[in-house]
Amino acid sequence: MRPSLIVFDLDFTIWNAGGTWCDHTWPPYRRANGYILDSEDNRIFLYPDAAGLVQELSTTFQLAVASRTHRPAWALELLSLFGLHHFFNYLEIYPGSKPGHFHQLHEKSGIPFENMLFFDDEMRNVDDVSRLNVKAVWVDEGISRQLAKKYLELRF
Ligand SMILES: [Mg+2]
Repeated sequence: MRPSLIVFDLDFTIWNAGGTWCDHTWPPYRRANGYILDSEDNRIFLYPDAAGLVQELSTTFQLAVASRTHRPAWALELLSLFGLHHFFNYLEIYPGSKPGHFHQLHEKSGIPFENMLFFDDEMRNVDDVSRLNVKAVWVDEGISRQLAKKYLELRF
């Protein structure tokens, strides 16, 4: 079954915040050549396929972010600076548990868990969310077209 909602984690799935999580960076941020620098010149960058993939998938599917970051405002600013925020129908960005984020997504979208596809780099999140019947996929480091293709009947 094709998913109706595709959900992405942020840190180490959509972006790499300078080898750490975005809540360990030092705003204010500024744009550089295709990446973002924090005030300590740490380089925050999107994984190579992330922007194109999100843009393409948004024409066919509803998209969401599920992030447990302790700095939701910073994550939102980064999404905006990368020009990605408007591709997502739902943004669940706050500390807590990923199943909690998914209950919110289900409530807001009306989409059943079994019609959701989720990408995350942390196995504990993949395990937690799988128990809801969401198809949860572990991302080694960074979402890629190749990985997304495996789980989607899409032509890119
Ligand atoms: Mg992550």
